[in-house]
Amino acid sequence: MYAKSQLSFDMENESYETDAPKQILATIQRKVVDCINRANQFFGTEFELPNANLRQKGRAAGTAHLHKNEVRFNSYMYQQNPQDFLETVVPHEVAHIIVFQIYGNDVRPHGKEWQAVMHKVYGLPPQRTHSFDVPPPKQSYYYQCHCQTHTFTKQRHTRAQKGTEYICKLCGTKLHFVDDLSKRH
Ligand SMILES: [Zn+2]
Ligand SMILES: [Zn+2]
Repeated sequence: MYAKSQLSFDMENESYETDAPKQILATIQRKVVDCINRANQFFGTEFELPNANLRQKGRAAGTAHLHKNEVRFNSYMYQQNPQDFLETVVPHEVAHIIVFQIYGNDVRPHGKEWQAVMHKVYGLPPQRTHSFDVPPPKQSYYYQCHCQTHTFTKQRHTRAQKGTEYICKLCGTKLHFVDDLSKRH
């Protein structure tokens, strides 16, 4: 009984994990199409639609990969404020794509051409920075030998807790987990 309910809980969890990004990506893709359509109307041309994905991690809200005609978005930041993200980050990155398709490599990334697309096509201030929170740093686990402190990833920490022993290459002594760094001496 316990095992069965545990299993169904995990499956629910999994479907949540896989469906949400799909919906986010679909919403972002619609906005990318909308941004390209507006640029098509403005310039009286047909820009090539970039591929959009959610591969952006870290401090950037999005990046434009010009030679791949690809725009990457940070779903961690999207979820903080979807409306703001769609209205500012998506046009920002698509504007890079537009500028590249018109001018190629010869212009500065946030130069007057990009600013003009932001301002005239999208009616937006050409902002270069966003105000979304950046993801917290990956959890680290600290281990101590006789000579230094070692930083473990979660995976390595799990292996150590399950019995795998780690030896310091420098001093040759066993590493021990330190719960609280402030207690270290
Ligand atoms: Zn930019
Ligand atoms: Zn050591």
